[in-house]
Amino acid sequence: MTLQTSPTVQSTAAPAGPALDVRKLTKRFDIGNVLKPKLVHALTDATFTVNRGEVVALVGESGSGKSTTARLISRLIEPTSGEIYLHGKNVLKSEPGVASLAYRRAIQMIFQDPYGSLNPAMTIGAHIERPIGIHRGGRNAKEAVVDLLATVGFNPPAEFAAKYPYQLSGGQRQRVAIARALAVEPEIILADEPVSMLDVSIRMGILNLIEQLKEERGIGFLYITHDLASARYIGDRTIVMYAGHQVECAESTELMDRPAHPYTKLLLSAVPNPEAGLVTGDDEARGEIPSLINQAPGCPFAPRCPHVMDVCRKAMPAVTQLSQDHWVRCHLHS
Ligand code: SF4
Repeated sequence: MTLQTSPTVQSTAAPAGPALDVRKLTKRFDIGNVLKPKLVHALTDATFTVNRGEVVALVGESGSGKSTTARLISRLIEPTSGEIYLHGKNVLKSEPGVASLAYRRAIQMIFQDPYGSLNPAMTIGAHIERPIGIHRGGRNAKEAVVDLLATVGFNPPAEFAAKYPYQLSGGQRQRVAIARALAVEPEIILADEPVSMLDVSIRMGILNLIEQLKEERGIGFLYITHDLASARYIGDRTIVMYAGHQVECAESTELMDRPAHPYTKLLLSAVPNPEAGLVTGDDEARGEIPSLINQAPGCPFAPRCPHVMDVCRKAMPAVTQLSQDHWVRCHLHS
């Protein structure tokens, strides 16, 4: 498929600047009872920004808090504490409980499963027409659908508008999900593992489409993945998460070239390297992410860390700024 940019869909490019600003976002799930209190520490103090025209990659294993972060920002669930600012406005205060239509238009989400995120009884065109009707009054909806399908790479787009999800491949379904998000001209797209369920051969096409939308429309992406290689390929900045905590953040190339946190090094050692063959480092750190229920004090990576010290089991490390755009949360650097 040839990627093209529709001439008639308006670009939503806006001046660069922090569109989304998340501060100390925290989520606890109460799964206990009066006799046996149990709190799941799903996310603790997540703090970052996403600018227009920037891809921020959020990397970590299952259970690290990546998807919880996206669900909180999209307002599918409410945080226990913290703040979410859109263009300087704290939306959790100004729009308590339910997000406004304007917020939901500005922040769109793409889900991991392109099979489950589309309605099998609706045509592709109807999927995209619906948000146009809700958010843009349905003006020129049919033309807009064709333009959007062309933008995400369908050719001929009008033919695809009449098809049903079962008639498309996984990659094509994910392109439909992206077109549906674009239909409301969002500023930020939360892409939750958008390529992890796709064949390796078509992942690159979706990543290139994200890159193209970033460049041409100035859309900011929060790209959630467990795959450091794709984060390096597409992320301008990368944040590494472990057990609900952000442990390191830097520009993507800096992070991959000079990782400072033992967990980042572990993730990098797991990226296949044809030159190294099957030999990888840090075998001592293999293991599972710890239980998030009633977390113990100290660094959550301590049970797996090959460099663990006494202090690691007692106190959570503070953030250490290694350079202007690179920080880490580890006692080795504090
Ligand atoms: Fe390892 Fe200690 Fe650093 Fe945690 S704080 S990553 S346990 S050295």
